[in-house]
Amino acid sequence: MNVQPLASEYDCLVIGGGPAGSTVAALVAQAGYSVLVAERETFPRFHVGESLMPETYWVFKRLGVLEQMRDSLFVKKVSVQFVGRSGQASQPFFFDEHDPRECSTTWQVERAAFDKLLLDNAAARGADCREATRVLEVLFDGNRAHGAQLQTSDGRRQSVQAKVVVDASGQQALLANALGLKRIHPQLKKAAVWSYYQGAMRESGKHGGATVILQNRSGQAWFWYIPLSNGVTSVGVVRDRDALLRSGESPAEIFARELADCPALEQRLAGATRTDDFHVAKEFSYDTRQSAGDGWVLVGDAWGFIDPIYSSGVYFALKSGELAADAIVAALADGETTAARLGSWLEGFQQGTSWIRRLVDAYYDEQFSFGRFMRDHPEQLGSLTNLLIGRIFHPQAGEIFAAMDSES
Ligand SMILES: Cc1cc2nc3c(=O)[nH]c(=O)nc-3n(C[C@H](O)[C@H](O)[C@H](O)COP(=O)(O)OP(=O)(O)OC[C@H]3O[C@@H](n4cnc5c(N)ncnc54)[C@H](O)[C@@H]3O)c2cc1C
Repeated sequence: MNVQPLASEYDCLVIGGGPAGSTVAALVAQAGYSVLVAERETFPRFHVGESLMPETYWVFKRLGVLEQMRDSLFVKKVSVQFVGRSGQASQPFFFDEHDPRECSTTWQVERAAFDKLLLDNAAARGADCREATRVLEVLFDGNRAHGAQLQTSDGRRQSVQAKVVVDASGQQALLANALGLKRIHPQLKKAAVWSYYQGAMRESGKHGGATVILQNRSGQAWFWYIPLSNGVTSVGVVRDRDALLRSGESPAEIFARELADCPALEQRLAGATRTDDFHVAKEFSYDTRQSAGDGWVLVGDAWGFIDPIYSSGVYFALKSGELAADAIVAALADGETTAARLGSWLEGFQQGTSWIRRLVDAYYDEQFSFGRFMRDHPEQLGSLTNLLIGRIFHPQAGEIFAAMDSES
């Protein structure tokens, strides 16, 4: 842990050392600017969100961590599969059948180790990373952010000045909450209950690392099934919050109730042993009506969060971190850290991420069936796989939705 006193002024202050914050910090520091990362926890720390999208590859390459990812024990993920209400499984979507390059292989990560790898990388590239350091408040002069008040690991309060403040505080969404910018999507007020299992069924061969998404019989809930290292599998259920979290039921009872309505998952868990307590999270989808201002910008979950069904959260965090870093470096070079400069990447990013949002809406639309859609439109397999890979930032990314609209 860094025991040097904090400087009083930095070019860039990053709130939070998750994937979004570490990415911004590494790239801005590498460009030669002074960066402080204030992270309230001490790493490694537990975090949900283990399944990655293949397009994370390019951000890893830019961050210089591909070698570490290849050498890690993280399980390789080359496919996803969906199991419907009847228990019937779709054909696996193999990313490398669509694009046979190394970038079609990604990983299922234990977030404690993964987030530490990224934060250590930011430090190695010159960022001053302080753990057990909480940002209490962002400081403003009129509309311009100019620093923050922190509580350091020894409990003392201290103000630091910064030309740019990046909110990467995840679902804490420090700035969006303080400025009243958060817009919750009323149709996607979900909750999740999950735990970890040893000895759950695993396919042999390369499909053994797949994320499997299983719907229950009523169609009201879905489960994630994510194979991790050391034979552990992360298994969680997602459903409308009010239907999932009924009063008087423990998380174990909730999970058992939902599992009883999903025989395909019961089969996979037969003989498995639970190795952890149950975790519960409220996971409302939201966005922010303003995502950059003079001297500040939002990235990752602090910018917005979309239902985790397609494992897009970490990719959005990494990609927004990369795009924001480029905007920050250019703005600092020109001495013009305005809302327009710091948020210059947002329009394209929002357009790309909106395709995943539309895919989420399609999954929850009771009139729509992916199985039927793929039978009627086999020519769309490539477009759909592209979206599942995370290839959402090119002009044709949303092509599939014209065909989907004609179905509904
Ligand atoms: C149930 C569920 C399942 C999910 N599954 C997946 C999945 O399979 N794949 C996937 O890609 N995504 C998944 N996600 C989403 C994923 O977890 C997030 O999108 C991702 O972690 C966002 O990264 P981030 O860096 O923006 O935020 P985080 O990873 O949350 O990091 C934010 C950091 O900020 C720190 N912080 C917060 N407040 C302060 C403060 N005041 N001062 C200092 N530090 C602070 C926190 O300690 C934290 O370390 C899931 C989410 C949920 C809820």
